[in-house]
Amino acid sequence: MAYDKSIEAFEAANKVIPGGVDSPVRAFGSVGGTPPFMERGEGGYLFDIDGNRYVDFVQSWGPLIFGHADKDVEKAVIETAKKGLSFGAPTELETQLAGEIVSLFDGIDKVRFVSSGTEAVMSAIRLARGVTGRDNIIKFKGCYHGHSDSLLVQAGSGAVTFGAPSSPGVPADLTKHTLLATYNDIESVTACFRDSEDIACVIIEPIAGNMGLVPAEEEFLVALRTLCDMHGTLLIFDEVMSGFRASLKGAQGITAVKPDIVTFGKVIGGGMPVGAFASNTAIMSHLSPEGPVYQAGTLSGNPVAMAAGLASLKKLKSNPSAYIELAAKAKRLTEGFQAAANAEEIPFVTDVRGSMFGFFFSDKSVKDFDDAQQNNEQAFGIFHREMLSRGIYLACSAYETGFISVATTEAMIDAAITAAYESMRVVADTL
Ligand SMILES: *Cc1c(COP(=O)(O)O)cnc(C)c1O
Repeated sequence: MAYDKSIEAFEAANKVIPGGVDSPVRAFGSVGGTPPFMERGEGGYLFDIDGNRYVDFVQSWGPLIFGHADKDVEKAVIETAKKGLSFGAPTELETQLAGEIVSLFDGIDKVRFVSSGTEAVMSAIRLARGVTGRDNIIKFKGCYHGHSDSLLVQAGSGAVTFGAPSSPGVPADLTKHTLLATYNDIESVTACFRDSEDIACVIIEPIAGNMGLVPAEEEFLVALRTLCDMHGTLLIFDEVMSGFRASLKGAQGITAVKPDIVTFGKVIGGGMPVGAFASNTAIMSHLSPEGPVYQAGTLSGNPVAMAAGLASLKKLKSNPSAYIELAAKAKRLTEGFQAAANAEEIPFVTDVRGSMFGFFFSDKSVKDFDDAQQNNEQAFGIFHREMLSRGIYLACSAYETGFISVATTEAMIDAAITAAYESMRVVADTL
C-alpha cells in the first residue's frame, strides 16, 4: 500500500496542529508509522486519501454501530441541518431522544445532554458531589473517563492510592480527592472507604474498554453496589463506550446491578458529538435550573446531533436481534485471531461483549490494569502494522477496544482472519 499523500498530509498537519492530530491516539505513537488520513467511509469500509481501502474495526472509536454513512442517520442529519444548525433554544428532538433513553432503562427518569463523553462524566461527578455534599471520589486504575482534571489520575506512590496527576497542568490539589482502586478487586475499594468517609461516588466502566476490553465480574459489581449503599455513596456507571454497544442497554443489559447515575456518549450521537448523563428524578432535580448544581452548554442538545442519535437509537430499538448477530461476528473474528496466534504458538487471549472485542498478547486472562500491562506491546505493534498493510484497520493501541458494526459483513471477517494468519506469522518470525 502507498501512503504518499498521508505522509504529506501528516507533515502539513504537524506544522499547524500539535502532533498533527486533535486526539493523541490518532498519531499512531504506540505502533509507529504514519496515520492514514481518511477521505470517506462506506458501511464497514474506510478509504484513505491515497485510495487505500480498509475494513474498519475502529468505527470512530465506537460511535458508528451502523457503519459509515448509514442511510437513515444520514437522512436525519441532512433533513435537520436544512432547518438550521443550532438555536440555543429548546427543540422537541431533545425530548424525543431523552424519551428513548428513559423508556429503555429502569431507574432513569431524566437525561441531560452535553457534547462529549468527557463533559458527561465531568458533569456527573459534579452532580454526585453536589447531591452528597462530599468531595472525594473513587475511580479504578485503567478506566478512562475523559480528560477532565479530577479524572486524569494515576496511582500515587503511597500504600494508600490517593491519586497523583497523570498530566502536567492538573493540580495535585484536585487529584488528591480522587482515590484509586483496582478493577475487579473489592478489597481495594473497601480500603478506600476505610481511608475516607467523605466519598461522593464510585465511578466505573462496568465493561472496561480503555485498558483493552476487561469486563467487570458480576460478584465484584454486586459487592460494589453494597459498599456504596453502606456508605451513602453514589455509584456511577460510565457507559460512554459500552452504552448501546455491549447490548441495547449496554452493560446494564448484562449485569443485574443498578447504578445511581449513568453517563453516555459515542453511539448515543450516531457519529455526531453527543454525551449525556442520566439518573432518577430525585438526583437530577439537583441540577440547574431546577437545583443548585450548575452545568450548561452553548451547543448542548444540538438539533443535528440529536437527530443523528435519535435515528440510531430508533433503528437499534427496532432491531434488537442485531446484537446477537454483532456478538456472533465478534466471536468469529476473535476465534479466528486466536487460531492464527495458536498456529504460531503466540500467547494470546481474547474477549467479547456484544459488538465490543478485545485481545491481548498475553498468556493469562486479564482482570485488571496490571494484567493488561503484561501485554507484549512489541508483538501488538507488529501485528497492527501487518494487519494495516493488508487493509485491516485495528485500533492503533493495545489498550483500546475493537468494534463490529451492523455493516461489518461475514466476508470482511473472513478477510481479517486471513490477514491475521499472515500477520501472526510475521510476529512469530520477528520476535
Ligand atoms: C470515550 C470515553 C470517554 C470520553 O468521551 P469523549 O467523547 O472522548 O470525551 C469517557 N468514558 C469512557 C468510558 C469512554 O470510552
